[in-house]
Amino acid sequence: MAQAAGHTGDLLDLFRSEGALSRIDVIERTGLSRSTVNQRLAALERADLIREAGGAESSGGRPSTLFDFNAGRAKVLTADIGAMGFTLAVCDLAGRPLDHLSRDVEVWSGPETVLGMVQEGFDSLARPDEVWAVAVGVPGPVEFDAHRVVNPPIMTGWDGYDIAAAFSSRYRGPVVVENDVNARAVAESRLTGQPNLVALKLGTGIGAGLVLNGQIIRGDKGAAGDIGHTRAGHTDPEPRTCRCGNLDCLETYAAGWALVKQLSDLGRDVRRTSDVAALVAQGDMEAVRLVRAAGRSIGEAVAGLVSILNPRLVALSGQLAECGEVLMSGIRERVYQQTLPLATRDLQIFRSELGELAGVTGLALIAIDTVLAPGPLTELLGANAGT
Ligand SMILES: [Zn+2]
Repeated sequence: MAQAAGHTGDLLDLFRSEGALSRIDVIERTGLSRSTVNQRLAALERADLIREAGGAESSGGRPSTLFDFNAGRAKVLTADIGAMGFTLAVCDLAGRPLDHLSRDVEVWSGPETVLGMVQEGFDSLARPDEVWAVAVGVPGPVEFDAHRVVNPPIMTGWDGYDIAAAFSSRYRGPVVVENDVNARAVAESRLTGQPNLVALKLGTGIGAGLVLNGQIIRGDKGAAGDIGHTRAGHTDPEPRTCRCGNLDCLETYAAGWALVKQLSDLGRDVRRTSDVAALVAQGDMEAVRLVRAAGRSIGEAVAGLVSILNPRLVALSGQLAECGEVLMSGIRERVYQQTLPLATRDLQIFRSELGELAGVTGLALIAIDTVLAPGPLTELLGANAGT
C-alpha cells in the first residue's frame, strides 16, 4: 500500500509540474501499464487532488479526457518573519497567495509575542480544518529537522525555541520552519524556471539560499549558505568584531548593520540599512565609497559560491541591494576576476524582481512539497479514503 501510494505521489508531481494531462500522456511519460495508471488516477481523483479538465482532440478524432491538478483542494498558511515585522499569506496548493497581511513587530520581542501575533493573523486568513500545511520563515540559522533556530544573532529569546510546536496542535499537516533566504531562493527558482541559482539577501545581515538541480541545499544541519560569517572580503589589518562574536566576518565589511555603524561614526544621520541606500542615492561620497567596497567584499564570497556550485543566476534582494550599480559593480568585478570562464559563461547577477510576497510564496512551495511528498500523501489518501 505504501509503495503504491508512493508511486501515486510521483504521478501527482507530474500533474503539478506539467499541467493538464490525458490518461495516454501519463502512460507515455511514466511507462506504467494502463491498469496501474487507472488505479492511481482513481486514487488521486477520490482524494480530489486531480479533476477532469475537459477534453482534448486525440489523433483518432475521439476526445480524450484531460486531468488537472486541483490546486484549490486545500490551503497552506505561511509566515515570513523579518527583523521588524512579518508577512502572512494563505496560499493554494500551487503556492499562489490568495490573501495576505503584514504586521510590524520587532523579532527580538521574543517567540511568544511574535508567534502569538502570527496565530491571530492565521486565524483571520483560514480555518484550521482547511489547512494542510504551515510554513514559518525566520531571519536566522534554522536546524531544519528540529524546527528550531540555533544561536540566531538578531533573534533574542528564540534560541532553541520549538517554533513548529506552537502550531502543530492546531493544524493537522506538517509545520515547516525554514530560513527566510532559503524560502526566497525556492521562489526565485520556481518562478524563473531556473534550477541552479543562488539567492543573496543583503540587508541588516548577509545570507545566501542555494538551489541546485531544483532542490534546496540545506547541508547536514541547515547552515548551508551562511556566507555572512565567512572571512571573504577581509582587507583591514585591524580586527573587526562581528555581531556573532567572531572576528573579521564578511558582515563586518558589508552588512547593513556594519555600514550603518561606519557611516554613523563618520557623522552621518543613519539608523537602518535603508538610510544607507538613501545616502548612496543622494551621492554621499563616503556612503558610495563604503558601499562600493562592500560590493567587492560580497563579490569575493559570491565568487567562492560560483566556483563551488556553478549557478546560472545570482539574485540579489534586501535593502542594501537598493544601492543598485554602486553595489553590483563591485560584486561583478570580483566574481569575474576570481572564477574560471566556464563558471561565468552564462552567469547572470541581477537584482531580484520578486516583490514582497517572494518569501511567503517560497515558504508555501516548500510546505506543499513536504505535504505532497509520498509519505504524507499516503496518510492524506488514507485519511480521505472514507470521505
Ligand atoms: Zn560573524
